[in-house]
Amino acid sequence: MAVLEDIMKAINKYNRIIIHRHQRPDPDAIGSQVGLAEILRASFPYKEIFVVGKDIADFDWIGEMDEIDSGLYENALVIVTDTANSPRIDDRRFNQGEMLVKIDHHPNDDPFGDVVWVDDQAASCSEMIYAFYQHFAGQLKLPKTAADALYAGIVGDTGRFLYPATTPKTMLVAGALMAAGADASAISRREDVITMPLAKLSAFVYQNLKLTSHQAAYVVLSADVLKKFGLTEAGTSAVVPLPGKIDVVSAWVIFVQQDDGHYRVRLRSKGPAINGLAKNHRGGGHPMASGAKAADEAEMKQIIQELDQLCQQWQEKE
Ligand code: AMP
Repeated sequence: MAVLEDIMKAINKYNRIIIHRHQRPDPDAIGSQVGLAEILRASFPYKEIFVVGKDIADFDWIGEMDEIDSGLYENALVIVTDTANSPRIDDRRFNQGEMLVKIDHHPNDDPFGDVVWVDDQAASCSEMIYAFYQHFAGQLKLPKTAADALYAGIVGDTGRFLYPATTPKTMLVAGALMAAGADASAISRREDVITMPLAKLSAFVYQNLKLTSHQAAYVVLSADVLKKFGLTEAGTSAVVPLPGKIDVVSAWVIFVQQDDGHYRVRLRSKGPAINGLAKNHRGGGHPMASGAKAADEAEMKQIIQELDQLCQQWQEKE
């Protein structure tokens, strides 16, 4: 693939490489970012490789962020992983380098950058980073630190190989990462751990979940509820997959109230594609996992209605 050659050419050319990913990172954002950095550090010890963005203590076990001066962007190559849209890139200095590369697995709605490699069939961006390593295996090294980070990303974005985006390639890559030293069991366990407040919030989600007439499920996590459980909105990701465990539910939405009162909309599906709905409400994402925003209760109601309609159309087709 010519684009892989273009990315490798850029990596060879620049002695300073700064890697970004999206805001509110998940394990795949951090895993692809840190995994790529660790591959490049091991392969080019004389180059300066940085990972930037807000440091998230919960993900320090995958990799910690660097704090760097803006001057370092001069003559630098910037690579952004796992980020579909440029407004979502964490650390707004991403366009201060000399060259910009996008590596991502979401639909390519915003093809920012001088070189764009998007594979929306890849289950995770970490899987793409492994494919990049494999393509240049003669020139690149894959240390255990990279294997661990990439494995964490794959586990995160596939829900431990549960979601339909998981392919035979995903499993082969996971196996290759284990062979390279990734501690698969410990990583899966780590991503499965919840705190006591999250366990209580899980109970709240199941207790308060509502179903529409066509099996769309929804629940609202208001600022008051989060306060009651001692959680911030950023700490609620672990409950997002829960409604999908219920047999009758084919798609679901969790509304999480933000500090300014509006709601973060977290959409998931086992049936109908929900990314079109997300796009209608200032969001986007994958067919089976998307995010959007709801200004108020009226917009939440609208989203629930649209989700119900999608479920109805999907049921009629099945
Ligand atoms: P989340 O519920 O935040 O985990 O988001 C699920 C997926 O939806 C992510 O992988 C993103 O690709 C996408 N997504 C979430 N929020 C937005 C947004 N505001 N704009 C575009 N895509 C989004």
